[in-house]
Amino acid sequence: MSEDNKKSEHVSLRIPESLTEEMDQYIGHKGFTSRAEVAKQAIREYIDRNPLPQQPTEPKLPRYERVNADDTGCKILDRKIPGNRIVHVTFTPKGVQCDYHESSTCEHVEYALDQTDVKEMIKQKKKEGWKLPDI
Ligand SMILES: [Zn+2]
Repeated sequence: MSEDNKKSEHVSLRIPESLTEEMDQYIGHKGFTSRAEVAKQAIREYIDRNPLPQQPTEPKLPRYERVNADDTGCKILDRKIPGNRIVHVTFTPKGVQCDYHESSTCEHVEYALDQTDVKEMIKQKKKEGWKLPDI
């Protein structure tokens, strides 16, 4: 790689000449040998002493939000899936299934089965012979 293509790790700043006159007085003292060293030290100290307040973070919404549930299934908004997708977990006599993962054991199924009214419904449907997981 030629020197031209190499990205410089330094930038140039324009500062008032009056400030450079003050900076020059430090050269040869306290270990400073250049304006750049004085500037770096001054900026570093300023930043260290004046931290910016933390940016307020947006209130974090929970990953899952129950949209609705009945004895055919549970709709769950999943904010971790790009586009905040609504996942359907269906309950049938054959078992429970997540349409997103095509699984009966994923985190959506777990979330659906953790809903109080779903637990009640599952107990009832199991009595009717549905092949639903033990909860
Ligand atoms: Zn799932």
